[in-house]
Amino acid sequence: MWTEPDTSEVYLNGEFIPLEEACVPVMDRGFLFGDGVYEVIPVYGGRPFRLLQHMERLDNSLRSIRMENPLQLNAWERIFARLTSSTSDDQLLYLQVTRGADRTRNHLFPRGAEPTVFVMAWTAGPRDPDISATGTAAVVLEDNRWHRCDIKATALLGNVLLRQAAQDAGATEAILVRDGLVTEGSSTNPFVVQGGKILTPPVSNRLLRGVTRDLVLELTRVADMLCAERHITRDELETVDELWICSSSREVQPVTLLDGKPVGEGVPGTLWRRMDALFQDYKARL
Ligand code: PLP
Repeated sequence: MWTEPDTSEVYLNGEFIPLEEACVPVMDRGFLFGDGVYEVIPVYGGRPFRLLQHMERLDNSLRSIRMENPLQLNAWERIFARLTSSTSDDQLLYLQVTRGADRTRNHLFPRGAEPTVFVMAWTAGPRDPDISATGTAAVVLEDNRWHRCDIKATALLGNVLLRQAAQDAGATEAILVRDGLVTEGSSTNPFVVQGGKILTPPVSNRLLRGVTRDLVLELTRVADMLCAERHITRDELETVDELWICSSSREVQPVTLLDGKPVGEGVPGTLWRRMDALFQDYKARL
C-alpha cells in the first residue's frame, strides 16, 4: 500500500511547501533522539478513516512523552483536508510531532523549544489481489523492543530491524513473541482463529493498540462472531486455523505461511473472508 508521497505539498510548522523544500534543523530532537510521535491515517473517498480514534491515540502518545498536542482538532482537520484535496484516490496521511530543536544535544527536555509538526499524504496503492487469493508469509521473531510499545514513537529502530529480518527470511511480517506470548507484528496487530473463535492479545505496554485492531474487534461484535482478547502462546501459533495481521496501511490480511509452514489449510480462511467483507462494507458505508 505504500507508494511515493505526494511531493507537491506537505505541511511543516504552519506552512504548505513542496516536499523538497521541507527541512528541519539537525538539532531537532526527532533527528537526534527519535524524540517524537506519529500517526498514519487512511483516507477513503476523501475522508480520514477513524479520525477521532487516531487523534485520541496521538493525544495518548503525546501525554506519555510529556508533550501537549500542538494543534486543535479543527486545525489538524484543515491540514488533512488541504493535503488530500488533490485526488479522490485512497490515501494515507502521515503526521509527526517532535519535541523540536534545541541549541545543545542534551537528553533533558529543552526549555521553550517549539515542537516540530510535519504532515504529508501518500496515494495508497491498489489492493494486492495476490494477498486475498493466496495470503502472505510471516516469521516468528523474539520481541526485543523497549517496554513502551503502546506509544506510537518515531523511534522505530527495533521495529525496523525486525521487519527487515522478516523480509530477509522471505516473509512480509514478523509475528513477535515476548516471554512466550505473542505481542504484535513489527507494524501490525495479529489475530488468530482457533476452533471458530477469533483471538487477539489484550492491550498492554507490550503492544500498540491498533485502530484497525479495535475496528476488527468492533466488527466481530456487530456480526456476532466469537471473539476474545486473551494471551496467545508461541506454541499455540503452531496449531491455529487462521492467522491475520492488520494495520491502517494493510487493512486485514491473511497469513497463510508461518516460518515456512502452512497456517491451517494454507489458504485464506473462511473467517478472514467474512471479516474482510465486513471491513470493506464498513469502509464503503462511510
Ligand atoms: N503495531 C505496530 C507496531 C504498528 O506500527 C502499527 C501500525 O503502524 C500497528 C500495530 C497497527 O496500528 P493501526 O491499525 O492503528 O495502523
